[in-house]
Amino acid sequence: MSSEEPSIFTRIINREIPADIVFEDDDLIALKDINPQAPVHLLVVPKIPDYENVHELAAGDPALLAHMVAVANQLAAEHSDGQFRLVFNSGENAGQTVFHVHAHVLSGGLAEGSLA
Ligand code: AMP
Repeated sequence: MSSEEPSIFTRIINREIPADIVFEDDDLIALKDINPQAPVHLLVVPKIPDYENVHELAAGDPALLAHMVAVANQLAAEHSDGQFRLVFNSGENAGQTVFHVHAHVLSGGLAEGSLA
C-alpha cells in the first residue's frame, strides 16, 4: 500500500487530468500512452491504487491480474491485429516511473522492434 500522493493514473481515473481513455469497467481503465513506443501503445491500469507492481498484484489479487490480461487481449484485437507484447516494468532500474501497477500493451509492427 502506497502512502504517497495519488499517482498520475489515479488522477486520470478521477478525471482530474485528461487522457485518451479507450476502455473502462468497474476495475480497470485503459488509455493511450502519452509517449508511444509502438504503433499501438496502451496502458491497462487497475483502479485500485494498492499495488505498486505486478508481483504485488499477483500475490494480492491474481484475479485482477488475469482480468488485466484478458482486457489487454481484447484491446489488441480492437486496436490492432490481436497480437501484442505485454510489459510490466517492475522497479526503477527496470524503467518503472509510475508506482501504480500498469501493463503496457504494445502492438503493430513489433517483429523487428526492440523490447520496450
Ligand atoms: P512505466 O515507465 O512502466 O512506469 O510506465 C509509465 C508510462 O506512463 C510511460 O510509458 C509514460 O509515457 C506513461 N504516461 C505518463 N504520464 C501519462 C499521461 N498523462 N497519459 C498517458 N500516459 C502517461
